[in-house]
Amino acid sequence: MPNDPQDQVYQNSLDMQKQLPETARRFPVWYELRHVCAQTGARLGTVHTPHGAFETPAFMPVGTQATVKSMSPEEVKSLGAGIILSNTYHLWMRPGSEIIREAGGLHRFMNWDRAILTDSGGFQVFSLSDLRHINEDGVNFKSHIDGSRHTLTPEKSIEVQNDLGADIIMAFDECIPYPAEQDYAKKSLERTTRWLERCIKANRHPDRQALFGIVQGGMYKHLRRQSAADITAFDLPGYAIGGLSVGEPKELMLEMLEATVPLLPEHKPRYLMGVGTPDYLIEAALRGLDMFDCVLPTRIGRNGTVLTSKGRMIVRDAKYARDFAPIDDTCSCYVCQHYSRAYIRHLIKANEIFGMRLASWHNLHFLLDLMAQVRQAIAHDRLGDFRDAFFETFGYQKT
Ligand SMILES: [Zn+2]
Repeated sequence: MPNDPQDQVYQNSLDMQKQLPETARRFPVWYELRHVCAQTGARLGTVHTPHGAFETPAFMPVGTQATVKSMSPEEVKSLGAGIILSNTYHLWMRPGSEIIREAGGLHRFMNWDRAILTDSGGFQVFSLSDLRHINEDGVNFKSHIDGSRHTLTPEKSIEVQNDLGADIIMAFDECIPYPAEQDYAKKSLERTTRWLERCIKANRHPDRQALFGIVQGGMYKHLRRQSAADITAFDLPGYAIGGLSVGEPKELMLEMLEATVPLLPEHKPRYLMGVGTPDYLIEAALRGLDMFDCVLPTRIGRNGTVLTSKGRMIVRDAKYARDFAPIDDTCSCYVCQHYSRAYIRHLIKANEIFGMRLASWHNLHFLLDLMAQVRQAIAHDRLGDFRDAFFETFGYQKT
């Protein structure tokens, strides 16, 4: 495709990959394991992509509609994000993936030149749309925007993701609700594996878009193990764990992680989908996960809740009306250097865009900075100590 504007980026990536060992060069996205924490077994690594590398464990800000809500790409970069996530379902429904393809892909469309990951659209179809019907072929559903009918299949999901052009694309899977019957969880994970095979065949750009498979299996350890074995039987550039953090108790989620992680290959990135509260991020990194995403920092920010080193703070509460201290006096972010709780509270109460921006900005900084601290703790073999100290100050129970 000589006219594809992504070709130059792809060519640069190929040039870079010529210097790599044979094993790494098989995929456009690859993982470099740099250190294992002697205290916990957590991994410090680098994920290389056609749009640059990022260090792991990494938090990926979510840009649902091809924007991290209220933030410019330059601002998101200044906070240290090396990769963001965007949602296939939303961009497919609006403006339509062919428009983004015509624009030269999502990177160009939204002016983001670092890595992007797109999800399969499955999660939104299962959670947002009405009147969905699932069968072996895929899912029929009604759009939440205009009620129009669509079918999302493994082939369609990959076609849309190929149009969007993200560096990492996700296999189309079924997210089952919690709780789910064991029998259904088993049938569903087996169908997810068959769908993965169709996704691999459908990927038109395996040379520049890395397809990750997704482990499912509900809250059943033996099914998680079955799914991990089935999914990793396909030689893919990376693997994800899906269907967790869907309302189950934290202990149950950690059990599922512990059952799954040992079955994932060491030299591939591991992505835990949809997880983003500080305690879950630390616990999952500690168990050997590398990549995370969550809408939490921008969503709670818009509603006037901020994350601080001492726990969550509802800054829109009346008690902050005359509080002229920053959100967090230990925070080094732009917001905490210049604005007070009272001012941010006032803006949010008055529905001012700038208030939502400031709260989102600080929250994104908080989680990206937390992951930087996690990486540093892994490098110094003390992630367990870091967790204990963080939980003590933040106010979490240790698990
Ligand atoms: Zn701050």
